[in-house]
Amino acid sequence: MRAIRVHRFGGPEVLSYEEVPIPEPGPGEARVKIEAVGVNFIDIYHRTGQYRGLLPITLGVEAAGVVDTVGPEVSEVRPGDRVAYATQQGSYAEYAVVPAWKLVPLPEGLDSRQAAAVMLQGMTAHYLTHSTYPLRPGDTALVHAAAGGVGLLLVQMAKRRGARVIGTVSTEEKARLARQVGADEVILYTQADFEAETKRLTEGKGVNVVYDSVGKATFDQSLNCLKPRGMIVLFGQSSGAVPPLDPQVLNIKGSLFLTRPLLAHYIADRAELLWRANDLFKWMAAGELSVRIDRTFPLAEAAAAQRALASRQTMGKLLLIP
Ligand code: NDP
Repeated sequence: MRAIRVHRFGGPEVLSYEEVPIPEPGPGEARVKIEAVGVNFIDIYHRTGQYRGLLPITLGVEAAGVVDTVGPEVSEVRPGDRVAYATQQGSYAEYAVVPAWKLVPLPEGLDSRQAAAVMLQGMTAHYLTHSTYPLRPGDTALVHAAAGGVGLLLVQMAKRRGARVIGTVSTEEKARLARQVGADEVILYTQADFEAETKRLTEGKGVNVVYDSVGKATFDQSLNCLKPRGMIVLFGQSSGAVPPLDPQVLNIKGSLFLTRPLLAHYIADRAELLWRANDLFKWMAAGELSVRIDRTFPLAEAAAAQRALASRQTMGKLLLIP
């Protein structure tokens, strides 16, 4: 089969499109014939070594397709089932072996592209708004990169929870899109000081929660946007890693809470995974959650997809098609 592999950390040029053996499922595992692969920022961290794993690796952690065969002791899925998954390494490929408990059966009417587009970013938006800081009506949330893959879904879910949403984006086009999916206010943080704007928009009070995936470029000012006892949810580092922090800062700035969550810890067992994924599928079927696929690329062009994502050109999901 063909797969995108990384043998040394580096830029998009280290992505290698190669022939590798089709993997065999072991106990508790299933093999999926992949129809659509989700591209995520974490794939870039794996490629550059910001998240350092053992090399070589097949990139990618998200896909949708059809179960092809299963190993022993698998009860969750059967060959022929249409499924999707996230948080399992090795999806930039024609086939992947996945622990069966991580596979979510797809409902009728949900195609592989839509499924691959929503799993990782959708479940992330779900846990951020329902579990990490469970938003309530009356809360105000600041969402950075509101027109990104996670951002567009996060805005919709925050609105669904009854919160007021202030989004930040880099361009007018992104601002229009963030408003379209429900953001109450949008700040062009490339032109205006988002800290001053957030204070103005909240009459000096600040917000209950900042969902910050941008990291280095926004983190310090994000802290200043919070109400006393507010929470900063640092869930990404698209602009670079946040340097070490003195905990006393959280005291001085208002007894703040800081968390650095990871999706894998919020889909820790099958019940939690199915809860989050099935909520997404239900809302999509009802027309209550819009999933925007920005572009699709052939699997062989994974480097172009990663370049687009890293250069802030995208609004929504990027997919690779094997
Ligand atoms: P996005 O589609 O959000 O792309 C990243 C966006 O970040 C850009 O479009 C851009 O929006 C903004 N950005 C700001 N500064 C930079 C910069 N210097 N370089 C690149 N982008 C920048 O990506 P994803 O939706 O895939 O992921 C968003 C973030 O969420 C990532 O940091 C990712 O690691 C994190 N994440 C974390 C998870 C977790 O469980 N912890 C799970 C899923 C994602 P703009 O142009 O508007 O500034």
